[in-house]
Amino acid sequence: MPELPDKREAFIDWYLAAVELAELTDKRYPVKGMNVWTPYGFLARRRLDRVMEEEIEATGSRPVEFPALIPETEFAKEKEHIKGFDAQVYWVTKGGATTLDVPLVLRPTSETAMYPIFALWVRSHQDLPLNVYQVVNTFRYETKTTRPFLRVREIHFFEEHTCQLDEERASERVASNLAAFAKMAARFQLPYLAIRRPDWDKFPGAFYSVALDIPVGGARTLQIGSIHHYRENFSRPYGIQYEDPTGRSKFVHQTTFGLSERLLGAIVAVHGDARGVAFPADIAPYQVVVIPVPSAKGGDPTPYAREIEKVLREGGLRVHLDDRADRPGAKYYYWESRGLPLRLEVGPREAEAKTVSAASRLGDKATIPRAGLLAGVRTALGAYDERLGAQARKAFAEAFALATSLEELKGSTTVRLFPWCGSPECGHRVEEAIDGALLGTLEGAPPIPLGAPGACIVCGRAESTVWSAAGRPL
Ligand SMILES: [Zn+2]
Repeated sequence: MPELPDKREAFIDWYLAAVELAELTDKRYPVKGMNVWTPYGFLARRRLDRVMEEEIEATGSRPVEFPALIPETEFAKEKEHIKGFDAQVYWVTKGGATTLDVPLVLRPTSETAMYPIFALWVRSHQDLPLNVYQVVNTFRYETKTTRPFLRVREIHFFEEHTCQLDEERASERVASNLAAFAKMAARFQLPYLAIRRPDWDKFPGAFYSVALDIPVGGARTLQIGSIHHYRENFSRPYGIQYEDPTGRSKFVHQTTFGLSERLLGAIVAVHGDARGVAFPADIAPYQVVVIPVPSAKGGDPTPYAREIEKVLREGGLRVHLDDRADRPGAKYYYWESRGLPLRLEVGPREAEAKTVSAASRLGDKATIPRAGLLAGVRTALGAYDERLGAQARKAFAEAFALATSLEELKGSTTVRLFPWCGSPECGHRVEEAIDGALLGTLEGAPPIPLGAPGACIVCGRAESTVWSAAGRPL
């Protein structure tokens, strides 16, 4: 069996090898940064989509789908936005042999596709809030080194766009999105940091941006999602107005919430180990694999294995029967490296005793009686998820450390937390010291116990400082 690079010492090499070994994607497609979703990778992606759809719809959002092409005239309406994406967009300039009158942008994100239509949909205060989302592919001409799921040019993207009555309602939507993400992350067993980006790093056109970051070893971090408050920055240029109960015309306040296939990369990064990928049960393409284990003494366990598979499938689990001719040991390794949560070994002994031998991806073993099969398997999956989550939370807490001086940021081997006064001057000094980014100020509970923030780590000012984080984004 191939040896994976050390995850701690060489994270990116380990990551690339783990993704490759699990066959989640095929990167041999002849356009850089545009990869093929394999059957196994697609099943994982579909699970991620389902979780996102379920949790966002539970907050009153409804699905839509807008076209992939956006006229340049619409794209150019919000100045900051176009400036932010100028170097990253793909252009469609011809239809057949005809040069188009108005060039079209292949969506890098869908504000400028949706908002001219929102202006038609929103008429009165009774049309609000408008909460819609879509799951589509977006395109960004990424100039840095591309990596499967982490940095690609065709991105599988989840984007919610909302219109609210006023600034306060929009802030409430941001809070509602944060709560929805907390539920998704619990199902992914993924601890994360919600952090308000400094002004110089917010989304182009946003009033403010809250990013969802995870630590991925050393001082490195990965942004896995973001939530933005737009105020009236888009509704004014796009004319999204409503009539309030007194007949006055007002602009809506808008928010967006974006997640992408990076979540799959994050799950690989956080849960994977020396043997490869490890999927939480909710995301795993298959939760259970049933492997018939023939014995030299004879007796074919396959019919019993089929019976086991049928009971689990009819019980609503995602189960796969691996009855290929390979040796059982080779199959164990195959499914471990693919991160499958629970393996059931079924030999003549189990067939006779009416049991199955269960082994989790984390190495826990149990004998489950055929009579209580479904409940036994559900319990084993629950215990597996619990351990996977506990392991991830432990590593998460260890990824942060307090910094009390600029000196301590230099050559930092963890993500650093410290009090910051909020001034750009101090922020840039922090970025120079850590040779990375000031990620922003913490929203919600800190990842490690912290008291009240003291004096700014740079200028020493004591009033209105906030806990902040700095690291090196991947
Ligand atoms: Zn300061």
